[in-house]
Amino acid sequence: MTATDTAFADPRLGEPFLLTPGPLTTAFSVKEAMLRDWGSWDGDFRAMTKSMCDQLVALAGDTRGAFACVPIQGSGSFCCEAMLGSMVPQDGKVLVLANGAYGLRAAETLRVMGRAYTLIDKGDYLPPRGDEVGQALDADPAITHVIAIHCETSSGILNPIAEIADVVAAKGRRLLIDSMSAFGAVELDVNRIQYDAMVSSANKCIEGVPGFGFVIARKTALEAAKGNAHSLSLDVHAQWAAMVKTGQWRFTPPTHTIAAFLEALRLHALEGGVAGRGARYTRNRDVMVAGMRALGFETLLADAWLSPIIVTFFNPAHPSFVFSTFYDLMKAKGFIIYPGKLTVVDSFRVGCIGRMDETIMRRVVAAAAECLAEMGVDTAAPPAAAIAERAKLAA
Ligand SMILES: *Cc1c(COP(=O)(O)O)cnc(C)c1O
Repeated sequence: MTATDTAFADPRLGEPFLLTPGPLTTAFSVKEAMLRDWGSWDGDFRAMTKSMCDQLVALAGDTRGAFACVPIQGSGSFCCEAMLGSMVPQDGKVLVLANGAYGLRAAETLRVMGRAYTLIDKGDYLPPRGDEVGQALDADPAITHVIAIHCETSSGILNPIAEIADVVAAKGRRLLIDSMSAFGAVELDVNRIQYDAMVSSANKCIEGVPGFGFVIARKTALEAAKGNAHSLSLDVHAQWAAMVKTGQWRFTPPTHTIAAFLEALRLHALEGGVAGRGARYTRNRDVMVAGMRALGFETLLADAWLSPIIVTFFNPAHPSFVFSTFYDLMKAKGFIIYPGKLTVVDSFRVGCIGRMDETIMRRVVAAAAECLAEMGVDTAAPPAAAIAERAKLAA
């Protein structure tokens, strides 16, 4: 282990910490890994792709060779679109479980590609529950697939994926999971949670830089996906078949991003894999949430639904609080926070993921306290309307 392996605040760089759900703060050695060019057809690079795919399948817990990893160029949404368009047959029908922007994006993706779907929309932050999923599947025998969002990053809610997976399996349907912002830090073990395919991307919990996403899918489902895709480039089966045959990506791969990702995977393993990464993010969240609550801030979600990925806070009710000013002051202190995405009440988000530890989260809280003082806000307590909205969660 080198100094760089354990450094969370690298003094060589004066850049702000990204308290965002990706792109996020990466290790210096991850950035450094990009200082070299690779030929995409060359054996060295093909070995890198294979190593990456093998490691990702292992992270999903597959020990029997039943799953394969298929990387897809582009941002996470490209990969999600590839999964939906490839795994769902043209005459299939998808039950979309939405409780925020990413669930709704999955529905929009299906609409654009002309696949039939039906939507359970729980609003901004209520979790889709197993019983209602079961009822929807009973009510519509045409549904072949269910898409669930693991951590809905727009609120930070960690959806009850095991409960949903059990119902989908019991009803004989196929589950697809958008685990974009959770995979690598929250367990999604194929031996415990039954699914056909999941997607994540390079720039979330594995702590790489942006440029590609990856599908981890059951090989039998991949075989069945042949000819389903609506798109040439976003065809998971074709990408998989080409990789099995030649070891190469079908179109120009983001070579530097993959080199960086391999270094990110090395750091991930060094930290203790999914459990180690998840434990650090959980500590980040606990320290940050406790500190923010001490300032009067309140979380949108009850503790039971808080993910270790990102946390939504209500804007304070105090008349002197202006989010854009708060944002600028936080940035000047070295921390980039994230605006909220709720429709009913004003909020902002603070990410817990990326190359940061609890020491840095304590500095985040101290910076927030200074910003409030500079704005003349003596308490960060939210408006009564926000609390009333939150009470619906318990209902
Ligand atoms: C980040 C993310 C995506 C993909 O977003 P891109 O901007 O396309 O990378 C999809 N779903 C969830 C839940 C995410 O957090």
